[in-house]
Amino acid sequence: MKVIRLCSLFVVVAIVAAVASNYSRPADGADIRGLHTRANRQGDARQTAPSFVLVAHGGAGDYSKMSQEQIDERRTTMVRAIRAGYAILSRGGTSVDAVEATISVMEDSGLFDAGRGGYYTRAGVPELDAAIMDGRTLAAGSVAAVQHIANPIHLARLVMKKTPHVMLVGAGAEEFAKSQGIELVSPYYFYNEREWQRFKDAQQAAKNNASALYPPAWPNDHEHGTVGAVALDQAGNLAAGTSTGGTVMKMSGRVGDSPIIGAGTYANNKSCAVSGTGVGEYFMRNVVAADICERVRYLHVSVEQAANDVVMKELVAQHAEGGVIALDPQGNVATPLNTTGMMTGAVRADGKISVKGWSTDAAPVVVSAAE
Ligand code: ASP
Repeated sequence: MKVIRLCSLFVVVAIVAAVASNYSRPADGADIRGLHTRANRQGDARQTAPSFVLVAHGGAGDYSKMSQEQIDERRTTMVRAIRAGYAILSRGGTSVDAVEATISVMEDSGLFDAGRGGYYTRAGVPELDAAIMDGRTLAAGSVAAVQHIANPIHLARLVMKKTPHVMLVGAGAEEFAKSQGIELVSPYYFYNEREWQRFKDAQQAAKNNASALYPPAWPNDHEHGTVGAVALDQAGNLAAGTSTGGTVMKMSGRVGDSPIIGAGTYANNKSCAVSGTGVGEYFMRNVVAADICERVRYLHVSVEQAANDVVMKELVAQHAEGGVIALDPQGNVATPLNTTGMMTGAVRADGKISVKGWSTDAAPVVVSAAE
């Protein structure tokens, strides 16, 4: 009898241990509910393969005037950026970390309108904006009009993590950066032949025609390069981030949509994560990123339909150019654009990075996330 009782005790302990081993502690205090939900939907928690998604963009606009070499450089950088995010997600890291890492690589490259490559203002210096949002907690951080910060997305993350605020601008944001040990870089760090030439040309043209210094926010002949990323991590949590130098020859102090939570950047585990690119003034007036997510949440439409309706109907009706990357908690992705191009790259747990979007007829380039 005693032996039977001992045996059944052993069986119970073994079952408890087996069940417990399926619940590993997620990184960074992440919520594991998403993983369970997805597992249960598939009917068997033990068969759940780690699943995650990362999508990045390098700006909506017209890429047709770019040389093949410029396109190749941007594409290679985007692959490098996505590899940085993939490395984090594949080892169970958070979507917020992956978004920050992905965007930082693009900021550092000098090839995009963000970080080192940011467009100049009419005063001839870059002023940078960035935001990041955690879809699990709705925590968000953003910075705007900073002039001496190499990685505005990192500073935005610190605003989210270390302050009671959501947004810091200009000198206050840079003071905060110093207090966090971030080195303020000189304007020469951002020196960029392409942007300097654009600025000099506009100044020269202004000698004959004063309005040449004030081109429309979205001139037809120019490329774009705001960068952004959205991610879903293994714990089922969403995040979004965006970083930009804004629009060409913008006024000093102009702030676009990218750092405005709900306009150019938004993430909520209950609906979706969005990063936008386009004429910021329209994205702000239409609170584009939040509108897409709230349609998913309240109208129960797919992320694809919500993103399409906002970008291809609402924005088009207002002649507002741009595009978005959007991702829902089930891993569905939408990347609508109403411009001729928007470079996007995506990767899932299978490690295949696919980059496309510099022209409507170019086939996606697929490479492995393993270097
Ligand atoms: N949305 C950005 C801004 O208005 C520009 C862009 O995406 O190209 O600042």
